[in-house]
Parts: sequence; structure tokens; C-alpha cells
Amino acid sequence: MRMLNLGILAHVDAGKTSLTERLLFDAGAIPTMGAVDDGSTQTDAMDLERRRGITIRSAVATFTTGGHEIHLIDTPGHPDFIAEVERALGVLDGAVLVLSAVEGVQAQTRILMRTLRSAGVPTLLFVNKTDRRGARHLELLPDIRRLLSPSAVAVRAPAAELAEILAEHSDTVLESYLDAPDRLDETLLRAEFAAQARAGLVHPVFFGSAITGHGIDELLAGITEFLPTAGGDDTGPVNGTVFAIERDPVHGRSAVVRLFGGSIDARDVVPFAGRGSAKVTGVRAADRRPGRVGAGGIAYVTGLRGIRIGDRLGSASTGPTARFRPPTQETVVTAPDPGALFRALTELADQDPLIDVRRADEHGSLVVSLYGEVQREVIAARLAEEFGVVADFSPPRIICVEQLAGVGTALREIGPNPATVGLRVEPGPADSGTRFGLEVERGSLPRAFMTAIEDTVHASLRHGPHGWRVLDCTVTLTHTAYWSPSTVAGDFRYLVPLVLMAALRRAGTVVCEPLDRAELEVPADALTAVLAAITRCGGLPDVPVVRGDSCSIDAVMPVARLRDLARLLPGITGGVGVLTSRFEGYRPVSAGVDTPTPPRVVAP
Ligand code: GDP
Repeated sequence: MRMLNLGILAHVDAGKTSLTERLLFDAGAIPTMGAVDDGSTQTDAMDLERRRGITIRSAVATFTTGGHEIHLIDTPGHPDFIAEVERALGVLDGAVLVLSAVEGVQAQTRILMRTLRSAGVPTLLFVNKTDRRGARHLELLPDIRRLLSPSAVAVRAPAAELAEILAEHSDTVLESYLDAPDRLDETLLRAEFAAQARAGLVHPVFFGSAITGHGIDELLAGITEFLPTAGGDDTGPVNGTVFAIERDPVHGRSAVVRLFGGSIDARDVVPFAGRGSAKVTGVRAADRRPGRVGAGGIAYVTGLRGIRIGDRLGSASTGPTARFRPPTQETVVTAPDPGALFRALTELADQDPLIDVRRADEHGSLVVSLYGEVQREVIAARLAEEFGVVADFSPPRIICVEQLAGVGTALREIGPNPATVGLRVEPGPADSGTRFGLEVERGSLPRAFMTAIEDTVHASLRHGPHGWRVLDCTVTLTHTAYWSPSTVAGDFRYLVPLVLMAALRRAGTVVCEPLDRAELEVPADALTAVLAAITRCGGLPDVPVVRGDSCSIDAVMPVARLRDLARLLPGITGGVGVLTSRFEGYRPVSAGVDTPTPPRVVAP
């Protein structure tokens, strides 16, 4: 059977969950239709998602229609999770973008459509809630064309209108349209329509209601007609992306993998994430049946210890790679039972690379890195609901970094067990992390001492002279000496931090703050006020792009001020402005601005 990995995306409340439920029900995959409003849907597996009415994590549901096996991949929809949205898009063959017939094109709908188009995902539009009072049908098309895509076309458009749009990418259609606009071959036109939709060149628009079921048959048929099926070569090398981690009592922890090439079964040994290979202990397909899964399919894979969301399976380098930004804020988490909190947080972090946890002090409080406010709420709610841990979060603070201003060297020796270490630090290329090099013979030190020195260098760079992590730094071991047999590895562990700190102080470090690129969609009449607000919040706006009565602005902003802008936005845009952001880089904290206080240094 042909397979299609499908995503449903929507502005919150447009009806994504209800539509998912309706498709599963109408296709016969579930016996009854759950309702969002009483919290009984299939796809929102987590209580939290049900309660908040938003979908945060990816999950898969399967149904068959028109000789196709459809894997519904539940993509997250909140702007705080735009990185997750992008990651999920990489595993899709096609998407349905849901709009509300009452509210029409909403700002977040535009952001999602933009993301889908830039990822090249063929997309159908479904105008939902046509049963509601005030619902619009074809009257919405001009808005859809103007705000989402000029190549959106109603699936039942008259031949002439269809030909006009298809002609843009087809000389054959153009000729027949110019020759005889009233005698168009509708069969040929429909085939061309499907081909262009599958190539992502046009976007068929469907109308209906997830609640009454009206228009759903047509959408189901459209999914197989207008979206491409999954391709890939079963016989090639394994190539897949992990887009979710699931845990259940029977199988334990499974990586949910989209396979782009090759096939996978129990007892196969597969390389993953560039960290070596592991033996697969079990494989289940999208419909949860055990057995080999081939290219294009979804596989639930057990046995790959330590595998995380975003990891690649196989050694092939094609296919999408996950893009992650570093977390730029952190919060101190405390709970009455620190042990339970630690176990719960490490389990969450283990499932999701966007959650990062470390110990803050000897009293058991833990620091969690954050991407945004919603993520904090989500973590708090999951701790409570999945682990029964009621946690307290401190107000988030910005994570700065230190960058080297120059080159520094230092050399020290200690007794009574003599040990000598000389180090040189110098700035490395951007994004190079920490590099450790040798200017001494590798054989001049026992291996255990060399390992102790290198490990301690990496650990010590977490706290530079100003207390922040030192970024992009090359450290070279220039001198060593020891006294056999009295010197021990612990002597080097004691000595290295002192020498390194002295070298860093000589080189000098600059405290840098994180910057985001904010993307705003606002009404054109609010443009002046929004630009003023961006500037007031320390941002640097690009030239705005005005489209009709709406406009998009990109701005580079200090992460520390992004929340201020987000707070101002509803007031100055009448509640319709939307802001998403992604990591941009670092810049020195400007003079005269309060430098954030670094975290207290404690033993790692
Ligand atoms: P999501 O946030 O996009 O997943 O949207 P939901 O599926 O949770 O729906 C949001 C609200 O709209 C709920 O109260 C639904 O009952 C309602 N809803 C969804 N689809 C329809 C529809 O086709 N017609 C009507 N009248 N209400 C709908």
C-alpha cells in the first residue's frame, strides 16, 4: 500500500484536533468520535494538551483511505515551539492547513503557511466550521490568496478559473486556455491540477465542518489525489529522523522514526546520531504491528539507548537535519522532594532535547534551560500530571556567554606531589565550541593524567571569569610535568582550573547576551507604533513588508527584551499581532546596561 505522512496544522482553536478526530472516524480507524470539549480525543495523548487545548508533542495516528495508508503526524502549533514545528515539517510528505470559516486567515495561519512553503511541503487548505453562524465560504478566497498564497484555488473552481492559475506553471494549459477558454479539457485540467498540487505549486482549498462531517469525504479524497506519497528506496542504506519518543509499559522507550531510505527490523545494527551503532531490539510499524518497516514508513524502534528527538538514523547524509537554537533563558526549579524532581526532570529531558537540566547547588535545586514562557508552563504541568511533582520555578533569567578578547597563557606547578600545567587559550571560530590541543608529546603523560586534564578543561570552561560559559575557545596544553609515582590524576584536576582561569583573565573575556530574530505579523495601521515599540525594546527592525492591510517585520532583539515586546504587542495591534522568534547570535552586553548576574558557581 502507498504511504503518505501527513501533518495537520492550524491556528489554535481553528479545529485541528476535531478534524483529526473526524478523519480518523470517517476513515474507520476509530469506533467513536471523541470531542475536544469533553477531552476525549485520541491524538491529544497528554492530559495537559487536552486541558490547554493545544498540541505540544508529535504523535502518530494511522488510517487508510483510497488505497493509501495515511500516517497522521501531530505537529505542534504554538509559536514558542516554532523549532518543533520546523522539525516536524521535515518528516511530512504533505500537510492540511486548517482555517476557521468564521475567523478566516489569522496571523498564526500566515506564519504556518510561510513555514510550510519555505520547507516545500505540498499543502491543502481546509476551511473548517462552515456549519457555524457567520461562516464564510468562497468569500474567503480573496483573503486566502492575498494573505496565504496567490496560488490557492477552490477544489471545485470553474474550469476557466482553474486554468488561469494552472497556466502559470504549464504551457500546455496556457495554450489551450488561450485557444479556447470555453472548451477546456476538464480531465486533463484535473490531472494537471493534481500534479501541480503534489509539487506544492498550487494549494487546493476545501470547505467543510469537522463537527458535522460535511466536506470530509471530499477532503479525504483530496488528500490522496492532491498530495504526494512517500518515496524512498527500501534497498538503500538506512536513513531516518527521530521525531518523537514514546514510552509505554509493554515496549518501554521507543524512538518514533520517519524512514527516508532503507528498511529496519529487529536485530539490525544501525548507526545513529554520529555516536556509533546499536542493535535494534524491536520494530513496529505506524499501525503498531511488529516487523520490518521500509522507506517512507514510520517505525517505532526500541533498543537504541540514549537516542533523542532530532537524531538521525543511519550514516547517509541526505534528508532534513534538525535545527536547534541554544536555550537563552534559565529558571531555578525547586520541589519539596528534590529526588523525585530530579528523576522526573531527567526523564523529561531524556525524551526531549529541548529540555536541559543541571544541578544548581547543594540544596537540591535544579536549573532548567528555557526557550520561552510556554515551555516553562508545559514543563510545570507535565511534572505535576505525569510525575505528581509540584515544582516551583524562579522568574527566568537570561543566559549570557563569555567570548575571549585575545590570547592568554599561564603556567603553574603545585606540591607536595609535584605537577605542572601550562595552558594557552585563544578565540576559536564561531560555533566551534571548545577545542583542546596539545603542544606536548602525547606520550609525555600517563593516559589517565591526560584525560583528567582534558575533562577538567571542558568542565572549567562552563564558568569563565565573569561566571558565564566561555564560548568558542581553543585551549592548548603547552607544558606538563609530574613526579612518578607520587603525582595522581587528582593533582591535575586541582591544578587545571587555576591555570585556566589565570589564562582566561590574561586573555580577557567579554560578556555577550543572546539575540533573537523576531518575526512579527501586524496590521499595517499599527506599523508605526510597532516599530517604535521594537526600538524602545532595544531591537533593530528590518524594512517592513506591507501586503494589503497587513505587514510583516523582522527585527533583531536582545532576548532579555523580547518578553517586553510580546507584552506590548496585543495593546498596540488590537490583539491581532503575532510574534515568533528564533535564535540569531550573541553580542557584547552594551556598556551602561545592567549586566545580568551570572549563576552561582558550584561543583558540576
Ligand atoms: P484546535 O485548537 O485547532 O485543535 O481546535 P479544536 O479542534 O480543539 O477546536 C476548537 C473549538 O472549535 C472546539 O470548541 C471545537 O468544538 C470547535 N470546532 C472545531 N471544529 C468545528 C466545526 O467544524 N464546527 C463547529 N461549530 N465547531 C468546531
